[in-house]
Amino acid sequence: AGSDSVKVAVRVRPFNQREKTAGSKCVISMKGTTTTITNPESGDTKSFSFDHSYWSHDSYIEDGEGIYIKDTDSSNYADQRQVYSDLGQGVLDNAWQGYNAALFAYGQTGSGKSYSMIGYGPNKGIVPITCEELFKVIDSNKEEKKQLQVSFSMLEIYNEQVKDLLVKAKPQAGGLKIRQNPKVGFYVEGLKQVPVQNYKQIAKLMEQGTFNRTTASTNMNATKSNTRSSDINLVDLAGSERADSTGATGDRLKEGSAINQSLSTLGNVISALADIAMGKKKVMVPYRDSVLTKLAKKIQNKAVVNESPTDRLIRELKEENAKLMAMLKKSPGSPGAAENLEELQRM
Ligand code: ADP
Repeated sequence: AGSDSVKVAVRVRPFNQREKTAGSKCVISMKGTTTTITNPESGDTKSFSFDHSYWSHDSYIEDGEGIYIKDTDSSNYADQRQVYSDLGQGVLDNAWQGYNAALFAYGQTGSGKSYSMIGYGPNKGIVPITCEELFKVIDSNKEEKKQLQVSFSMLEIYNEQVKDLLVKAKPQAGGLKIRQNPKVGFYVEGLKQVPVQNYKQIAKLMEQGTFNRTTASTNMNATKSNTRSSDINLVDLAGSERADSTGATGDRLKEGSAINQSLSTLGNVISALADIAMGKKKVMVPYRDSVLTKLAKKIQNKAVVNESPTDRLIRELKEENAKLMAMLKKSPGSPGAAENLEELQRM
């Protein structure tokens, strides 16, 4: 919060069958952007503030005595559209302006990451809606249509190895290589980029890619490129459960620790970026510590992290201003220079 470059939202999903059967009580409540968690034994509460707190528990509310009754006011329920318009739309707007952006879903297995990111059946999530909206804009503008190329890639990071989900052949041992070059930063060498003309083609590729998925975290990447090029990274992360609580051993444990490596590094990277956005200097961003964060580094390639249009305008104005100041200082004799300089210094 406090800055447009990093946004954090939290969403609460409905109870699943197991939770209902167990007679679970909902210990979360939300008001505005604040999420409150109540200790059911002591009644103690803790509140946290986010950019968004989404109440999607269901259209039922607790009647105060532990009984759930139908909530007739469904405006309380944050649906897929709402989540898209708050979060996905901004990512898309930034992409149109040539900025890279990334969106991650974080949480335990079963907490609703895939529901929010991809969705189930008619309840489309952020990825399909973003792709649909992207093509809506392209299709409505003949000039853009001629100039723009959208391509789609889909990869999986599993045990710190990268697998191309759009390639059917058995993956080579060790996975695809991550390389770095000064122009694009980190990239996956040889990753298939399929040009797409409409959302239907993306949906088909996603289905194919999902079939090739092992299980762990998946990185979906819709790239639009012309003279400006931006990457939209929409990431469905692996479950955040702790290796020690799942009783995993052997391969599962190795997988668990590699996932936790990615997730804890991601946490460190995001908090370092947030520190920078809040104006702290000398912050080291540990991108190199995992494959996921190396790829996510694309976010920062343009020096400005997921900058909002307003922030960008202000920055550009300041840059122009600085250039003008330098020019005026060089030629102090030009007419009106002194007043102009004063005026500029006030800005
Ligand atoms: P994850 O990807 O974190 O493992 P899922 O997205 O598969 O979890 O969600 C688990 C279950 O909860 C699914 O059956 C899904 O349909 C349901 N679910 C998750 N979020 C919501 C929501 N906001 N509204 C309705 N159902 C949800």
